Amino acid sequence: MPPHLKLYNTMTRSVDEFHPIEPPTVRLYTCGPTVYNFAHIGNLRTYVFEDVLKRVLLESGYDLRHVMNVTDVGHLTDDADSGEDKMEKGAAREGKSVWEIAQFYWDAFRKDMKRLNLIAPDVWCRATDHIAEQIETVRTLEEKGYTYLIDDGVYFDTSKLDDYGKLARLDVSGLQAGKRIEVAAGKKNPTDFALWKLSPKDKKRLMEWESPWGVGFPGWHLECSTMAVKYLGERLDIHCGGVDHVSVHHTNEIAQAESVLGHKWCNVWLHGEFLTMPRGEDGQADRMSKSSGEFLTLDTLIGRGYDPLAYRYFLLNAHYRQQLAFTWEGLDAASAAMKNLKRAVLELRGHYTGDEKPFAAHLDAFLAAARNDLNMPQALAAMWRAVKDTGAPKGEIYATLLEMDKLLGLGIAEMRSERLAVSDDEIRRLLDERTAARAQKNFARADEIRDSLAGMGIEIMDSPEGTTWRKR
Ligand code: AMP
Ligand code: ZN
Repeated sequence: MPPHLKLYNTMTRSVDEFHPIEPPTVRLYTCGPTVYNFAHIGNLRTYVFEDVLKRVLLESGYDLRHVMNVTDVGHLTDDADSGEDKMEKGAAREGKSVWEIAQFYWDAFRKDMKRLNLIAPDVWCRATDHIAEQIETVRTLEEKGYTYLIDDGVYFDTSKLDDYGKLARLDVSGLQAGKRIEVAAGKKNPTDFALWKLSPKDKKRLMEWESPWGVGFPGWHLECSTMAVKYLGERLDIHCGGVDHVSVHHTNEIAQAESVLGHKWCNVWLHGEFLTMPRGEDGQADRMSKSSGEFLTLDTLIGRGYDPLAYRYFLLNAHYRQQLAFTWEGLDAASAAMKNLKRAVLELRGHYTGDEKPFAAHLDAFLAAARNDLNMPQALAAMWRAVKDTGAPKGEIYATLLEMDKLLGLGIAEMRSERLAVSDDEIRRLLDERTAARAQKNFARADEIRDSLAGMGIEIMDSPEGTTWRKR
């Protein structure tokens, strides 16, 4: 029996104990990037949260099957089926073909994933590789009577479902009355959405396909329902994305999938909160987005001298269901914490023979936090308690950190002294402190400083004339 794992389910609005449908298999689908631009660091927050979830599931002993899509068609600049296709917009911006744009930004995304230590999905699936399957989904929905055709395309009639909007607890009748969503001509209900959009009659689109309803392209929500069922079967354990997906994208994925399947589709829905940017004089925070404001990518951070894993640390230090404001000061604090961690790791590693077992009390506290709805800030606190536990054998603490890193993904085993930019001033300050400690007969502190310098690759030599040092 895997240990208890509790997750907040957007569908039930409560933290529930997690039980897979067919243990030990866990089927996970996460909505992937729209590859028309670099991912911004807000998008990456969502992928880091999903990575932590994956690591917790793997650590709990589950046999994880993870599928992630790549949106390379159909995602419009506005979630309500109007606006431009983001891919075509990207291609026009860069004077390249949509296919080149898709390949370039998908590669860039995978590079970001590697740099953030994100475990790759078992299956990547591109929307444009699954056009036939998506058309098949629309045909099934049509046969079952869920669709109607208007000038603009084939639409899903949401009034056919009693429970449409259950994930977001949408007040559908309120929407009907207020008509807050812009409506395409002929749309029957404001919440109806496009399954297949027809190409404009006077214009050839860069990406379009033949279909039983005419030349056009799939609606954005269709790819996820179709590919999730294709690769993970009729019942899904967990589906994730950012909070912005709750009211439209995931709501419509559920409508499509459950209408095709005729039964409940996914058990647990997890949503990561936004990364925000402080903005304006009033200090109001806005969601980071690709279309507005400062657009920060992982490359921007690297260009300013930050380690991508310091950004990962910054994210782990906030709970995934809380909004997190990005600030450079916050990232500096995370970088400083990573530096301290590296220093401790290098020192502790010197005492590790490879035989030591993790220190159970610290590891248990860490895992309990992580399994409690992925409470990584608390898990990090448990990690620091372990690092600072001077009473415990150092080799065991190092073994503990290696175990913890299976969830943290901070690259503890790979931490090397050359990555620590320790200045000569800092070395001299530590040596002075050590000399003072020795003079006060505080040999424990003096040895600690020697060990931590050794961990940084600094060897010190004592002689009657004083202490000298060299870099190994
Ligand atoms: P997109 O590439 O626009 O489809 O978005 C990729 C993922 O990033 C989705 O799961 C979004 O919900 C998520 N996302 C978008 N903006 C933010 C943000 N500011 N903070 C966190 N996640 C976001
Ligand atoms: Zn999706």
